[in-house]
This record gives sequence, C-alpha cells and structure tokens, in this order.
Amino acid sequence: MNKRDLKKFRAALEQKRDSIVNAPGKKPHWENMEDTRHGDFVDQASDDNEVHVNLRLLQIDAKLLRAIEAAIERIDNGTYGICSVCEEEISVARLKAVPWTSVCIACKEKKSA
Ligand SMILES: [Zn+2]
Repeated sequence: MNKRDLKKFRAALEQKRDSIVNAPGKKPHWENMEDTRHGDFVDQASDDNEVHVNLRLLQIDAKLLRAIEAAIERIDNGTYGICSVCEEEISVARLKAVPWTSVCIACKEKKSA
C-alpha cells in the first residue's frame, strides 16, 4: 500500500478514535462495524434495559477503540493492510469499509463459519 493511502487510513482511524473518545454521550454509527456479536449478555432485569444497552455500547466502544489503536500501530510498523492470519493483502475496499480490521474477508468468513 502506498504512503498516501496509508495516510488516509490513518486519518480515518484517528478521526474515528477521536469521535469515540471525545463524544461519550453520542451514539456512534455501527453499520460498518464487524464483530458486533457479543451474545454473552443476558438481560436479567427487564426493567433496566436502558442500562444494559448503554453498558453494551460502552463495551463495544472499548473493543473498537482497541482495534483502532492496534490498526494505527500497524500503520506505524508497516504491517497495515496485511491479513494477520494468511498474510495476504486485505482488499482496499474492505479496509475502506472497516479500516481497523486485521483479517482479510476470506479469513473472516472462515472464522465466523
Ligand atoms: Zn487472510
């Protein structure tokens, strides 16, 4: 991947990170998020659903934040855009959709299959 693209992805990642860090009250958009499955939550108390939802959002935030920081680190050490499983290049289209991903679509599908 060339430096210009890397710079763009880095800017996008930093922007996303800042939007999580600086706007805790706002609900982020999760439509581009992968790995939103977190099925271990059990709603024990039905009368405080909102608390559960907020808690869940916070947990996703923390997870996403870690993924974003790891991606920025990979940009720094030159491994960004390389699948961590098969070491093939991740397609730019996929990186545009999910810039913090560390696996290519084939490995992602294998993983979730
Ligand atoms: Zn792969």
